[in-house]
Amino acid sequence: MSKKLTRRDVDYSKWYNELVVQADLAENSAVRGCMVIKPYGYAIWEKMQAALDKMFKETGHQNAYFPLFVPKSLFEAEEKNAEGFAKECAIVTHYRLKTDPKDKTKLVVDEDAKLEEELVVRPTSEAIIWNTYKGWIQSYRDLPILINQWANVVRWEMRTRLFLRTAEFLWQEGHTAHATKEEALAETKQMNDIYAEFAEKFMAIPVVKGKKTESEKFAGAEETYCIEALMQDGKALQAGTSHFLGQNFAKAFDVKYASKEGGLEYVWATSWGVSTRLMGALIMTHSDDKGLVLPPKLAPNQVVIVPIYRSEEQLEEVSKVARKLETDLREAGVSVKFDNRDTHKPGWKFAQYELQGVPVRLAIGPKDIEKGTVELARRDNLTKSFVQQDEVVEKVKAIMVEIQNNLYQKALDFRESNTTEVDTFEEFKKILKEKPGFISAHWDGTDETEQKIKELTKASIRCIPFDAEKEEGKCVLTGKPSSQRVLFAKAY
Ligand code: AMP
Repeated sequence: MSKKLTRRDVDYSKWYNELVVQADLAENSAVRGCMVIKPYGYAIWEKMQAALDKMFKETGHQNAYFPLFVPKSLFEAEEKNAEGFAKECAIVTHYRLKTDPKDKTKLVVDEDAKLEEELVVRPTSEAIIWNTYKGWIQSYRDLPILINQWANVVRWEMRTRLFLRTAEFLWQEGHTAHATKEEALAETKQMNDIYAEFAEKFMAIPVVKGKKTESEKFAGAEETYCIEALMQDGKALQAGTSHFLGQNFAKAFDVKYASKEGGLEYVWATSWGVSTRLMGALIMTHSDDKGLVLPPKLAPNQVVIVPIYRSEEQLEEVSKVARKLETDLREAGVSVKFDNRDTHKPGWKFAQYELQGVPVRLAIGPKDIEKGTVELARRDNLTKSFVQQDEVVEKVKAIMVEIQNNLYQKALDFRESNTTEVDTFEEFKKILKEKPGFISAHWDGTDETEQKIKELTKASIRCIPFDAEKEEGKCVLTGKPSSQRVLFAKAY
């Protein structure tokens, strides 16, 4: 049986780490900064993948796969991208090991097997993909190219946290090629909107859509759009990004197309990605001191049925009802697990499913058989009630919708009550200390001020929200004129 979790108000970060491990989502591995995603965690990730993949395909994208390795010369081609990622790159220099002549039990690098050209383990795939697109694009008829890849990438991060920031992570990366700037910009926006829709409808996480500042944008991009979410400890999390890459990669890889009018033009590009970091967002938005709380749309099991019995005969009777409910629920499209293992007591199972965030738990015992009822426990608000067996399916279906909406509303209320408009720097610092969350404040638009605020407070500009109204004001630090508020926060 797992230990009680550290409470969130005692140590939020410890709570998070314990929860990830105890709920069987992931654990640290023998490789520094790399995690093992366990079956339960992976099942949630698969649900996210399925929903996103469907949305990508419905908007005309197709999946493909490109190599894990990028020859260094290709990686260098787009200078800003290369420079931005250089510090986080893992490099393959050799392709063979040999037995150590001094110690036969050990292996050493075979210096005779040095690669002619070093290979970068992809931190992101623009370079290898645009080098490939060069061969695919000749005329306007070859455009647009709308491709997504599900893959792993490696960024040698120094400070890692399970799911939130790992050295190797799983993600999807979309890479599209277009004939016009307008089309590429529309794609960038569309994909950011899709991420927002996914976060809100499936993850039950409200997000702010906006643009990154120059200093926070993706290396090699003209513009980066993002979705930003607020976690329960008042820290922000960048949950997804969509980049307008202009013609930067087309120029770096000499990708031109013959236009309808007969000219030769550089191709316009976008890229967009979300990663296993979303698992961290999901956990930190909804979960409580008892463990994980999952929105029904992403729960591997939406319902678990636990039998209560003393004798074999009782188990048999209870199982009959449970099996029928299991079939009926499944037919109604609810994912359900009947946990009839005799290796664990009902109390243990209750605690485990609570820890793992199963939205609804049904318990059936001999008394319920007499009365024709089952006990229904909700994970979101921890309430229990008795339901007539023949009403379970309808009730569960309604509760799934209710929980999904409830979690979203709760997260939205939290974000709203933790977003503060601030007009002076004193207030800015005070709020950060007393009521951390999003701070909406005026900024003079310079990189210098942005860095200064970051140095002084550790809060960064999360985004320039798309829906911010134009409003004349004064920069919270310098007092210089500003035309709209931006969102600041300390971030993961
Ligand atoms: P980027 O290519 O930098 O725009 O990142 C694409 C997505 O991956 C964003 O949603 C990031 O939040 C996420 N991401 C970036 N670095 C990491 C990391 N080390 N671990 C997990 N997710 C990451």
